[in-house]
Amino acid sequence: MLTAYFHPGYAAPIGQHIMPIRKFGLVADGLRDAPGIKLARPEPVTGRDLLRVHTAEYLEAIKTGEPHDLAQSQKFPWSPELFPSVCLTSGGCLAAARRALQDGVSAALVSGFHHASADHGEGFCTFNGLVVTIDALVAAGEIRTAAVLDMDLHYGNGTAQLAASRPHLFALSLYGNDFWDNFSYRDVSERQHVDGSNHKSFALPAGCDRQTLFEIMDEALPLLAKRKPDVLLYQAGADPYFEDPYSPLALDHDDLLARDRRVFEFTKAHGIPVAWVLAGGYTNDVSKVVRVHLNTFAAWREVYGG
Ligand SMILES: [Zn+2]
Repeated sequence: MLTAYFHPGYAAPIGQHIMPIRKFGLVADGLRDAPGIKLARPEPVTGRDLLRVHTAEYLEAIKTGEPHDLAQSQKFPWSPELFPSVCLTSGGCLAAARRALQDGVSAALVSGFHHASADHGEGFCTFNGLVVTIDALVAAGEIRTAAVLDMDLHYGNGTAQLAASRPHLFALSLYGNDFWDNFSYRDVSERQHVDGSNHKSFALPAGCDRQTLFEIMDEALPLLAKRKPDVLLYQAGADPYFEDPYSPLALDHDDLLARDRRVFEFTKAHGIPVAWVLAGGYTNDVSKVVRVHLNTFAAWREVYGG
């Protein structure tokens, strides 16, 4: 049985936006009758949980809407619903990680929000739910170490920055284009991110197909195995999909299903508890985004036999 955490309160009103916030509900709809999958509602994280990662000034801005620029630094229109919704999305991530420690695997129908930094949001990410989760579990004594495997199209810059001061966290990002200045590169080899001792990145070249992706994963995943994290958070992004407006990659639905299968084969073989989140996906036809996410559940079923 797989528990997947969903709450209708995840979605704040953001108007017409490239970020298809309704996709989380659509994925939940697609799972409701799926055998072996239980949808559960998470509790929101507390202010204390958030303050381990984010500054008091930033938290206040998200709560109150002031100062305006900071409250909208993630590029969403601020509303009074924003703060409760992002407490719930971080809560979903935390509940899934906790569940994974019990069951070996779990999911949250939320984004990981990997661009969010300590004192501001960025790229549709308000609070960094991945790091909020990890720090909450460490503070509670439930884990000592954790890792993030980020396979969203975009580089997990917020997570990497937060990892730099957190020896208990190892962040690994396999990204297909750059997100600095929200500008995608046709050739990621032009510019590489600067890695640190506990954050590493691998650039997927433009036109990256399944074979190239697998070669890079085979180079990257052993770094995770070496760390033996107590829990792994897997950011299963839908935006590497070739029709995505941001994607320079050549990965279709089957390729991304194969990606997820490979991740789960890895976590299963190494006995690493894994909780996954959905992450980006901006293809105009939202059903194609939803299919990428539902395929992650199919990969789970194939590997873990749910
Ligand atoms: Zn992305």
